[in-house]
Amino acid sequence: MMTIKKKPVKAKKEKILPKRERDGKEIPKPEAAETAAPEVARPKGKTYSRLRGMHDLLPKDEPYLKQLDRAARELAEFFQFGRIELPLLEEAALFTRTLGRGTDVVEKEMYVFVDRDGTRVALRPEFTAGLVRAFIEHGMWNNPQPVKLWCQGPLFRHDRPQAGRYRQFHQVDFETFGVRDPAVDAELITVGYSWFAAVGLPVEIRVNTLGTPAERERYVSELLGYYRSKRSYLCEDCRARLGKNPLRLLDCKEPQCAPVREGAPQLLDWVGEGSKRYFMKTLEFLDELALPYTLSPYLVRGLDYYTDIVFEFYYAPPAAPAGGESLPETAQSALGGGGRYDLLVEELGGRPTPGAGFALGVERTILALKRQAEATGQPSGSHPPELFFAHLGEDAKRRTLKILQDLRPAGFRVAFNFGKNALKHQLEIANSLKVPLVLILGQKEVQDETVIVRDMESGMQEIVGQAKLVNMLKKKLGREQ
Ligand code: AMP
Repeated sequence: MMTIKKKPVKAKKEKILPKRERDGKEIPKPEAAETAAPEVARPKGKTYSRLRGMHDLLPKDEPYLKQLDRAARELAEFFQFGRIELPLLEEAALFTRTLGRGTDVVEKEMYVFVDRDGTRVALRPEFTAGLVRAFIEHGMWNNPQPVKLWCQGPLFRHDRPQAGRYRQFHQVDFETFGVRDPAVDAELITVGYSWFAAVGLPVEIRVNTLGTPAERERYVSELLGYYRSKRSYLCEDCRARLGKNPLRLLDCKEPQCAPVREGAPQLLDWVGEGSKRYFMKTLEFLDELALPYTLSPYLVRGLDYYTDIVFEFYYAPPAAPAGGESLPETAQSALGGGGRYDLLVEELGGRPTPGAGFALGVERTILALKRQAEATGQPSGSHPPELFFAHLGEDAKRRTLKILQDLRPAGFRVAFNFGKNALKHQLEIANSLKVPLVLILGQKEVQDETVIVRDMESGMQEIVGQAKLVNMLKKKLGREQ
C-alpha cells in the first residue's frame, strides 16, 4: 500500500475555511479515508468494475454526444460565447463558500481531499464557482462587457446513484458577466432552449424569482414558521433542514413532503416591487420569443448564490412513454437550470459584477432523447452509414483504405469490415445496415482503377472509374448543390 508522508497542514490555505470544516468534522480527512479502504491484493482472475455511481459512455451513446456537442458549439458561435476550459480540481473552499452551507452538494456530495501539499481540494461539483474564480483571476472586468463564456466537461457529486444520477456526469454551461438586464436573462434562456430544440427534444421552461437576499431572508423566516408547524409530516431530511437551510425544504423530492409544500407561502408574494418588475420584464421577453414557460413558485434551485430569476428545463414528452430506462419521475428530472447571481463575483473578492448562467445535464438529456425516440418511434441522433465498401483480396483491401481517404472529406458515411473476406458475408452486413449503395472492389477493379457500384434495392451494378467515384456518389445520394 502506498504511504503518504504526513505534512503539517499549511495555515495559509485554511484561512477562509470555517472552523467546523477545519476540524474535519464534516469532510473526512484523507488519512481517515485511506485507512477506511486500504488497497487489497486482488485474487487472480477477478476483474475490476466501475465504481458505484460511475458510468461509461459507450459508442452507442456517441451519436447523442456528437449531436449535443455540435449544438452547443453552434449556439456558442452564433451567440458569441467564448470557450473556456477549467481545471477539474479547485480549492475546496471555493465551493463551500459559494454554494452554501446546508446545500446537498456541500453537505453530502463533494469529493474533497487534502492534496500532497496540504491544500484541501475538491473535484468540481459545478461550473459557476470555477468560472467566477477565473473571471476574477484573469481580470475579465477589463474586457468589454458583457463577458460571455461557455464550457463543457465532467463534474463530480457523491450523489445517491439512480437512473439519470451519477457521481461523475457531464454538463454544458453558459454564463454572462457584467450586464444586469432582463434581455440577458432571456438570451440565456433562449440559448438553453435552443440547445434542446437543436436535438429535437421538447422541453418546458420553469421560472421563478428569488428576489434580493434581504427579501429572501424575510421570506425564509415566514417559510420556517410554516414548516415548523408541519414538522410531524416531514421526512427526516426536511426536519434536519429546518435547522440549517430552510429554502432547501422546497427542493425536497420525498412524496410525503409534497403536500406540505403545496400550502407553503410563495416567494413571489414576498419580493419587493423592484424585483417583481425585473422578473416581469424578463417574462415579457420570453412572451415575445414565444418560449414555453410556466411560473413555478417553489423553484429555488439547489445552490445558494442565486438572486432574482431562476429557471429550469424539463422534458415535456409528447405522450407518456412505455418501458425503457426511466428518468427519475420527480422534480429531480430537470434537464438543466440556472439563474442570476449578481453578488457572487463580489462575494469571491472581485469587483461588483452582475452575472447569470445555466448548466445543462448531458446524461439526463441523452436519457430523455432515448425516451423521446421510444415515444415517437424516430431514432434520434444516429447517422447510419449510406455506403458499404466490400473488398475481395489483399490488394483490394489496401486500395479500399486509399479510396476511403477520398470519400471521407466529401462527407460520406461509409461502413466496411476488414474482418470478413467473403463477398457473401460482406453483402449480408451491408443488407443489415440497410445501405442504399455498396461499393465492390476486386482484383480486376484494382488493376483497372474502377469500382463496382451496386444499387441494393434494384440489384443493378455499374462500373465507375475511381477518379469519378466521388462525383458519381454525390449524384446518386442527392448531395449535389
Ligand atoms: P444543477 O446545477 O444541480 O441544477 O444541475 C444541472 C443539471 O445537471 C441537472 O438538471 C441535471 O441534468 C444534471 N445533473 C446534476 N446532477 C447530476 C448527477 N448527479 N448525475 C447526472 N446529471 C446531473
